[in-house]
This record gives sequence, C-alpha cells and structure tokens, in this order.
Amino acid sequence: MGSMKFRSLGQTGLSVSILSYGASPLGSVFRDIDENEGVSCVHRALDLGINFIDCSPFYGLTRAETVLGRALQGVARERYILATKVGRYGEDEFDFSAARVTKSVDESLSRLGVDYVDLIQCHDIEFGDLDQIIGETLPALRRVAESGKVRFVGITGLPLSIFERVTAQAPVDTILSYCRYSLNDTSLEKLLPTLHGRGVGVISASPLSMGLLTQRGAPDWHPAPDAVKQKCAEAAQFCTARGADISKLALQFALQNEAIATTLVGTASVGNIEKNVRWMDEPLDEELLREVLAILQPIRNQTWPSGRPENHEPQIND
Ligand code: NAD
Repeated sequence: MGSMKFRSLGQTGLSVSILSYGASPLGSVFRDIDENEGVSCVHRALDLGINFIDCSPFYGLTRAETVLGRALQGVARERYILATKVGRYGEDEFDFSAARVTKSVDESLSRLGVDYVDLIQCHDIEFGDLDQIIGETLPALRRVAESGKVRFVGITGLPLSIFERVTAQAPVDTILSYCRYSLNDTSLEKLLPTLHGRGVGVISASPLSMGLLTQRGAPDWHPAPDAVKQKCAEAAQFCTARGADISKLALQFALQNEAIATTLVGTASVGNIEKNVRWMDEPLDEELLREVLAILQPIRNQTWPSGRPENHEPQIND
C-alpha cells in the first residue's frame, strides 16, 4: 500500500493526511453496522497513515462517538488528530447556546475517552442563527479552548454563503464543507481563495456525494433533486460499462486539489478503507474524467436547500 500524503490545515500547525476518516457510519448512519467492524475500521485507517478523524454527537445520536472512543482506547494520543462537533443533537434538534455547547464538549470528551479534542466544530450552522454563532457560540468555544479541552475551533454546513459570512466576522480556524467538491459539484472552489486569505483551513467531506457517486447508488434519504440522482446514476453506469468504478474516479478527483487540506470519507468497511488508500496512489484516468464530467454537466453545481431560509444560498448554475 502506498504512502500517505499530508497537507497543512490552515494556520493550525496541524499536518493532516489528505484522505481522512469520517466516523458517521460508526453510528449506523448508512446501515446497521457491527461495532467490532467499526473498531477495526478505525485501527486500519490509522495503520494506513490516516491521522485525521471527524465525528459528532449527532451521528447515531452519540453512538458514533461511543464506538470511536472504544476504538481509540489504548491508541497513543499523538497518533491521531481528533475533531468532533457541538450544536446538533438530532434531525431537528439544535442548540448553539454558550451553556449547551460548553457542556457538550465535556460529554464528547467523556464518550471519546480523551482529555482534549484537536478541533471542535459548530455542526450545520445554517440551522442556527448566524449572529448567535458569531457572537455567542464561537466565543464560548474559544473560552473552552483556554481550558485546554479543545485546541482549534471550526464551523460546518452545506450552503457556502455561511462560511463566507462567518469567517468575515469571527476568527475561525477551519471550515468543513460537504458535497461541494466532488465530480458533480465543485462550487467550493470559488470560495477557496477567500478562505486561504483569511487563514482558514479547509476540510471537504463526502467526495462520493453521500453515496451518489457509487455503484450502489444513493440511499433513499438522499436530499439531492431527482435530476441529480439520475445523472449521477447514469455516470456510475457509464463507468461500470467501461470496467471502471465511479467511486475511484470521484475520490481521486477530490484529493487532487491542494487548497483542500483533507477529504473525509465515511465507511464502516475495512475493505473500502483499503481500497480508498490504494486508489489515492493510482493515476487518474483523465479521459474517463472528461467523459464523466460531460455526463454530469447538465446538473453541475446543483445543490439543495438546507437550514433556515435566510441561510440558503442562491442556486449557482455555471
Ligand atoms: P461519502 O461521500 O464519503 O460517502 C459515504 C458512503 O460511501 C458510505 O455509504 C460508504 O460506505 C461509501 N463508500 C466509502 N468508500 C467507498 C468505496 N471505496 N466504494 C464504494 N462505496 C464507498 O460521505 P459521508 O460519509 O457522508 O462523508 C464523510 C464524513 O464527512 C462523515 O462521516 C462525516 O464525518 C463528515 N461529514 C460531515 C458533515 C457535516 O459536518 N455537516 C456532513 C457530511 C459529512
């Protein structure tokens, strides 16, 4: 298996593996998983050089953090950079108040079995009041950082406009964007120079567009418009007919951009982790990429609404 590559995460001084581990499947988000298999995934990821792990109390309603904590027991703390989140506790349950997020960090530390996390992120801030995030939540997390329980502070969400606005008004170490830098949607690209200029580290998630860019296809709950689902399925079939796997192309494409420090892939299968690390090192098929991008062109950069109406972004079609 090839050797892992690393990039700097903004101004944090952290050097993160370009491919990283998203722990949401440990909470059985995509399918019911065997806890032991989840633990093995974390160990295999670390053995293969992945050093960045992302979780949240929301995933599996705290189960993902608990399983991850079990996996990290006995692993030397300096072997991994750990990120988790605050503020989202259910499908429709959000609380970004200073009191709740401060308590939330302690709860996460206890489930994860660690003294500190490297990165604490406000989870899906488009569902909150951005003025509260700027004026109350982020300052509260900075106070938590002074206690040593967290090192850096970030924000996550779907609409890109939230990142532009919040990083302009408050010091933020990282943003985590998902489904916005993949074969069907590269709109994150436009924001990268601004984020770089503000010293904000960029984490991108869901290079397989939460299952759209897989041979298995998207899960039933996938929020993308039908036209996007259909075109992605068409592109997947096109790859299969060529003897290729769209997930491989999607992963390689996402990892190419050097302005993105790390790309999170979620899986509860050891085989998928091994495949993803192997694919990282193999050459990208440029011709297949051109053909797949052409199939996806009619739905390029189409996203879906998420969060409060005032936080939706205008639909970009270019
Ligand atoms: P993803 O695009 O990585 O897709 C995951 C799906 O692809 C899973 O069903 C997985 O089994 C499958 N898969 C993985 N490798 C594969 C392979 N080689 N072949 C075929 N299928 C494969 O999306 P994701 O899991 O949603 O995102 C990764 C992580 O990013 C999450 O676990 C989470 O940590 C983070 N994330 C955060 C937010 C947020 O903060 N709002 C949102 C989305 C994702």
